[in-house]
Amino acid sequence: EARNPNEPEFLQAVKEVTEDLIPFIEEYHPALADAKILERIVEPERVISFRVTWLNDKNEVQINRGYRVQMNSAIGPYKGGLRFDPSVNLSILKFLAFEQVFKNSLTGLPIGGGKGGSDFNPKGKSDMEIMRFCQSFMTELYRHIGAETDVPAGDIGVGGREIGFLFGQYKRLQNNFTGVLTGKGSNWGGSYIRPEATGYGLLYFVECILEEHNDTFKGKSVCISGAGNVAYYAAEKAIHLGAKVLTLSNSQGTIYDQDGFTIEKLDYISKLGRNLAAFAEKYKSASYHAGEKPWKFQCDIALPCATQNELTGDDAETLIAQGCKIVAEGANMPSTAEAIASFHAAKIAFAPGKAANAGGVAVSGLEMSQNSTRQQWTSELVDSNLKQIMINIHKTCVRYGKQECGHTNYLKGANIGGFVKVASAMQAQGIV
Ligand code: NDP
Repeated sequence: EARNPNEPEFLQAVKEVTEDLIPFIEEYHPALADAKILERIVEPERVISFRVTWLNDKNEVQINRGYRVQMNSAIGPYKGGLRFDPSVNLSILKFLAFEQVFKNSLTGLPIGGGKGGSDFNPKGKSDMEIMRFCQSFMTELYRHIGAETDVPAGDIGVGGREIGFLFGQYKRLQNNFTGVLTGKGSNWGGSYIRPEATGYGLLYFVECILEEHNDTFKGKSVCISGAGNVAYYAAEKAIHLGAKVLTLSNSQGTIYDQDGFTIEKLDYISKLGRNLAAFAEKYKSASYHAGEKPWKFQCDIALPCATQNELTGDDAETLIAQGCKIVAEGANMPSTAEAIASFHAAKIAFAPGKAANAGGVAVSGLEMSQNSTRQQWTSELVDSNLKQIMINIHKTCVRYGKQECGHTNYLKGANIGGFVKVASAMQAQGIV
């Protein structure tokens, strides 16, 4: 704590991981303690912070701060998204980069961990303002990244449009067309199924949990938070698998549809932008709850897919009291420490983001493979690889997280399962 003052999110993420790792190392791998692997893994290999200056549409000079946290490259190039949001600061990016190391390791692909972004607020900006910001951001970032060094992707506030502007500027500065970013358009180096991957992967992971109990999605009620990339495709896949999706939300409120969303309704929501209230005006079965979260509604499965710390201890108690049996995180660290403690105490299946939402980065890793070999795989091939990766991650979590009572602690399983590969690579590469 003394070393990382004012970084509560980073400390929260480190605490959550080390609580599982310290006893594991002491019992099974004392050599890792001697090599100080844990002390090393919590220290980023490199942190870059830079000024981003750009002109808004009124020709006024604007200044933002850009970052890239290169956390760990023991098993491959740094990999992780860029977030553009006013809440971005070093604590949030270090927590995300730290989580990313374990998540990327769990995918089984050769990718290290990183994260970056800016406190730039893309909301309400014109396309040209977004472009000028992205170009200025990349004019500094380009010297720190590369297809074999560090491969950023999207995250909150960074979608296909932003990746396009960032890639265009990188190519212009470096005069080479390489897979330096993932999430590219499918006609210029992007992978099919990348936009869908996090949401689909989340559902494949929950399918594995259900299978463990000889169950399926058929007829299950599902509450989802968020209405962005992850939430949208999670809802779509849940509907395809036969579940009844009751909610979506954003930072302004929640829509609840007692009949459940259909693909047609989802399509309508995607055209509403952030004005979710308009959905309840069109559909009689739906209601809009301004300023409220989805967790007060009864459901079998809860999928937080919006942002960090959006599901508190009180929310967890409400979900449990109403009979929720599975909570799987589409977002990164959406559940607070108190919420996780409640889920574990109630023996609910709790799947942490680093395992359950790894599908996005997994398909980004597959995009890198496709770029290296200058090939484009079919959607079916990417989807079947994604599914297999999620099945493997689930297996790893069960392997390291199954308890004597039969309950699986997926968080512990993911922490240890993600750690072992990175730790042994760090050990093999000496004191660097
Ligand atoms: P998007 O920007 O597409 O969507 C984010 C959604 O969350 C928006 O609907 C936003 O609403 C909502 N939201 C943001 N803050 C809050 C809040 N405080 N309360 C309620 N709703 C909120 O982002 P993504 O869907 O890509 O990412 C969502 C989460 O998933 C993040 O934690 C991200 O790190 C994680 N993730 C994403 C991956 C990906 O492939 N995209 C991969 C792995 C993890 P509003 O418009 O009102 O802000």
